[in-house]
Amino acid sequence: MNISSDKLAPPLIFGYFALLFGGLWLVDWSQFTWFSGLITFYAALFLADFISGLVHLFIDYQPLNYAKGYGELYDYKGKRNSDDFNTKKNRVFSRSTVFDREVYFFKIHHRNAGPCVNRPYRDFFYMTCVPATVFILISIALSVFEAPIPGSAYLAFALLVFSIGVLHTDHIHAWVHGSKTMPWGVSIARRVQKLKLMYSMKTHIRHHQEGESGFCFIIGHANFLVDAICRVLLRMGMIEKRHWLGQR
Ligand SMILES: [Zn+2]
Ligand SMILES: [Zn+2]
Repeated sequence: MNISSDKLAPPLIFGYFALLFGGLWLVDWSQFTWFSGLITFYAALFLADFISGLVHLFIDYQPLNYAKGYGELYDYKGKRNSDDFNTKKNRVFSRSTVFDREVYFFKIHHRNAGPCVNRPYRDFFYMTCVPATVFILISIALSVFEAPIPGSAYLAFALLVFSIGVLHTDHIHAWVHGSKTMPWGVSIARRVQKLKLMYSMKTHIRHHQEGESGFCFIIGHANFLVDAICRVLLRMGMIEKRHWLGQR
């Protein structure tokens, strides 16, 4: 991350949360009871968990872009902090797409989760802030224009919860790994895990080892659905284990 993106992060993060709280303030709360608000909150969080789990499954099972040299990076035998590796990495990254890089990062993460614990809040924020902001803007539009849709206040609230869930998928995952840059998040995750309200470390380790379960990184409650989808797709040959393993 360069200096200009460092400077850009605080106003962008502030802008996102200002929009989020503005959206919450605009929701027509007179339509809600505590119970219906709680159900909406949980349903939106579950949906964010499910959708982000599906996206994770999709990216995990994409083959590496071997034509661009990702195979060489993935199977590099020497030290990964050497000048030789960094030169190769910069060359491969500079001539490939963001998607190619993400496919590589997802696979490397299964082998070594180390780098994710050192990444700051803003790095993960940049990855999902665009779609997350779009969901907030739709929510605000629903509230401001009093959309003639039945239950639009519920939809407006659900979109805000969905947005904050999607935005923090990778942050929560880093907390589970014991993020060094967000110790406050680690302590939240440990407490919620202790209460058995989110996926356990055991579930997450199984994902790292086998890659056939545990794709949902927010609360993990939708894992049973995404796990089943993964099994069916593997059985039908629509996705292949060798791609998860980074083999040709
Ligand atoms: Zn994965
Ligand atoms: Zn992990």
